[in-house]
Amino acid sequence: MERADRTLTGTIFNIQKFSVNDGPGIRTVVFLKGCPLRCKWCANPESQLTKVQVLWDHKKCIHCHHCIETCPAGAVSLNGDNIHIDHLKCISCKKCVMECPAKALQTEGETKTVQEVIDVVMQDEVFYEESGGGITLSGGEMLAQPAFSTELLKAAKEEGLHTCCETTGFANPEVFQKVIENIDYILFDMKHWNPERHKEGTGVINALPVENMKYAISTGKEVLARIPVIPGFNDSLSDAEGLAKLLKEIGTAQCQLLPFHQFGENKYALLDQEYAYHNMNALHKEDLTEYLQVFLDQGIKAYF
Ligand code: SF4
Ligand code: SF4
Repeated sequence: MERADRTLTGTIFNIQKFSVNDGPGIRTVVFLKGCPLRCKWCANPESQLTKVQVLWDHKKCIHCHHCIETCPAGAVSLNGDNIHIDHLKCISCKKCVMECPAKALQTEGETKTVQEVIDVVMQDEVFYEESGGGITLSGGEMLAQPAFSTELLKAAKEEGLHTCCETTGFANPEVFQKVIENIDYILFDMKHWNPERHKEGTGVINALPVENMKYAISTGKEVLARIPVIPGFNDSLSDAEGLAKLLKEIGTAQCQLLPFHQFGENKYALLDQEYAYHNMNALHKEDLTEYLQVFLDQGIKAYF
């Protein structure tokens, strides 16, 4: 097989070490920017665009308007008292961030080569060996940067690492099949059983995730379905039944339930975006006992 192109660059927004919830053992999780879905409950809204983004903190801003005067792309404007950044116009030059006297602007995301990411990941090699861990690609969605993800996973395999990903599975099947070639273990989101309801919550129907999950299982790779349980979206007992039936049809007999939490709320404010789940109560295991039981009754080994 051809060697990985370690000079290829991608946009990432975090590298998190010592993770124990993103695949087996101790892992380093690489968070890639970019996602084709727009889940209304997204906990990482700063990951949705692939490009580097500027975030504005209204608590620090002294309203000097230097950022508006500085921006060469006309991407910064006033929206009432708020500084509004048009992320589509922004060319990620960071001039506004450097000019801001109050440090009210910060960038989210940076460009790194495959080799730069591998250098960080390999710092913890000894822990992977002892725990059966390795590297996990998360996001955002790794499938939004398919060439970078493919080369990064290839390079990880060249280093002898166990590879894992957290994915929505939303990509053209040819792209999906190429990216997962070097993945050992796939944590696969399944958000709704009903295509139209899936679209209401995420912006897209579930046809591609379903097709790609079937393919992933057919390769013999380890695949774990993960269901984010979201209030008012998929948390009814009839939704649990629909999801259990879909998982059986896809060909998997186990899933992990991820109760809704509020961790992303503050980031919506920094991005000047509306948050659809403002003030929504988090769900806990105790709230989902009957929900879990529906899966068990259908022969799906579900757990938290
Ligand atoms: S990063 Fe550059 S283009 Fe983007 S808002 Fe700031 S000054 Fe404008
Ligand atoms: S430069 Fe900084 S402090 Fe001044 S208006 Fe812009 S964000 Fe606020």
